[in-house]
Amino acid sequence: MLGPDQIIPDWNAPRHVKALVTTREGGVSLPPFESFNLADHVGDSSRAISQNRKRLQAMFPNTLVWQWLNQVHGAAVAEIEAAGEPLSVDGLITRNEGVACCVLTADCLPVFLASNRGNEVAIVHAGWRGLVAGIIENTVHKMRSPANELVAWLGPSIGPCHFEVGEEVRTQVIDSEGGALAGCFAIARNERKYMADLYGIATHKLLQLGITSVTAHDSCTYCDADRFFSYRRDGKTGRMACLIYIDGPAL
Ligand SMILES: [Zn+2]
Repeated sequence: MLGPDQIIPDWNAPRHVKALVTTREGGVSLPPFESFNLADHVGDSSRAISQNRKRLQAMFPNTLVWQWLNQVHGAAVAEIEAAGEPLSVDGLITRNEGVACCVLTADCLPVFLASNRGNEVAIVHAGWRGLVAGIIENTVHKMRSPANELVAWLGPSIGPCHFEVGEEVRTQVIDSEGGALAGCFAIARNERKYMADLYGIATHKLLQLGITSVTAHDSCTYCDADRFFSYRRDGKTGRMACLIYIDGPAL
């Protein structure tokens, strides 16, 4: 069985680090959640969600355990050895095999991290609030691998073509990095608005932290309505799953 549509990162992580982002294709949810919605907090039918999650799980070894989050746009990070009830954090780290760290997105940026030996992985849910709060810094600091042994990949998020923000968001983001992020905001067509580049902001932060291998999917969830859910575009809509796990012993 081919299973639902998926995006596999193009990055320098070792082969036994498995990472993936689902798209909206391949599920059973009805509009406005059509079709592969994996979130249970958006108003979709629980039958459809459980059917979709079964399809997702069928794509992976059945020994894999799944850690989901109640994402709160904060800066808290959990280090886990096994999966349990959803955690109210926006960053997850594991050093254990077979533990999937999962984030749900529909515009926010998922940041994937792995050590180049493949003995440690992490995933971050990074919207502008989390970026300002320091979710990327907190996650990287909690990882045991030195930053220069980490590789990063940025999954699909809303692009600078569609992520319009006000002056107060721009100011907070720029202040969070001592003024260095001004280049991540372009003047918008609407008066006193700016187009924010989440990829640019996250890349800057990762490079500042000493991670030199940063690649990105470089798509826009808002632009590509066939493939992606977008909260900005549709309001009531589904969520894609972004996940990472260790599938074998370290190199
Ligand atoms: Zn766009």
